[in-house]
Amino acid sequence: MIPTPYYLIDKARLAANMTAMDRLRELSGAKCLLALKCFATWPAFDAMRDHMDGTTSSSLYELRLGRERFGKETHAYSVAWAADEVTEAVTYADKIIFNSISQLLRFDAETAGIARGLRLNPQFSTSHFDLADPARPFSRLGEWDLAKLEAVKDKISGVMIHYNCENGDFDLFDQQLTRIETEFGAFLAGLEWVSLGGGIHFTGDGYPLERLAARLAAFAQRFGVQAYLEPGEAAITGAASLEVSVLDILNNGKDLAIIDSSVEAHMLDLLIYREPAKMNVSGDHPYMICGKSCLAGDIFGEFSFPAPLKIGDRLSIADAAGYTMVKKNWFNGVRMPAIVLRELDGSLTVARTFDYADFEGNLG
Ligand SMILES: *Cc1c(COP(=O)(O)O)cnc(C)c1O
Repeated sequence: MIPTPYYLIDKARLAANMTAMDRLRELSGAKCLLALKCFATWPAFDAMRDHMDGTTSSSLYELRLGRERFGKETHAYSVAWAADEVTEAVTYADKIIFNSISQLLRFDAETAGIARGLRLNPQFSTSHFDLADPARPFSRLGEWDLAKLEAVKDKISGVMIHYNCENGDFDLFDQQLTRIETEFGAFLAGLEWVSLGGGIHFTGDGYPLERLAARLAAFAQRFGVQAYLEPGEAAITGAASLEVSVLDILNNGKDLAIIDSSVEAHMLDLLIYREPAKMNVSGDHPYMICGKSCLAGDIFGEFSFPAPLKIGDRLSIADAAGYTMVKKNWFNGVRMPAIVLRELDGSLTVARTFDYADFEGNLG
């Protein structure tokens, strides 16, 4: 048995998402680029490459990873490029997307040889969480003044508009796209491509994928552009778990089980967004599942199990792919989960293990 903790990527679950991806691309004509900031576990890219058109990035390193480990079309976005990064970025990127007009003008000469774009901020979004809302007050994420955009239109061939966040509501998407068409349509009409960013949950159960496809196709046709989407979460949702073992059982008024993992170190987003972990269990034996770091609030959540837990029991925490593996860290020196793939035939492949040398080398 593979020792815990490890992240387990299930290629069969991933394949189900990729089937939806293929269908959307085929019906809509839109291209789908994997957003590496959500998921960059490249040993899984072989299972994704044939179903997506490439990658998009938030930094030089993600950009390079996309070029070298995924291939196909490679979009380079960054909130701000340093001068020495741009020279290298243009060697990997098919398109470079600037966050501001000021960066576009500053790096005009260095980037004139590849397709360029700007981030357009429509000043609305589906996010209600301030931390993750690109349309929050005084947002630094993109340009919106049409007069300023018109003045540099001859330097760019497209725009990227990222304004959805875990949006599983097609009607809301439809309404907001209509708003973009109304407010920015005249500008979009002269472009070659428009990326509508990520955050659309089209791989979710019951999502009206055909309606989304038709809407995207109509949008692309109306403005004469190639539409892109940049799915992160939608590409890998449900495809990975965090496999752990029970190390200790206590009762401090509640039954507690301490596992060989840590929310802070291995599923940080749960703390940031104050959400409990997910486990597919039920029964009459409730436990609070706790991490082994010394942070008092390092708690995965409360779950009820079919039988009392014992030391050594294995547990599986769901939804450990998106924004999870990319954020794992060495807090408390907790052993870092290995990365394991479950192949389509059920066999397990260990892609990467971490040891003391990785911990030591991380800080010196
Ligand atoms: C975060 C992000 C994405 C991916 O978002 P998901 O919600 O994971 O689909 C795509 N594009 C941009 C610009 C982003 O910032």
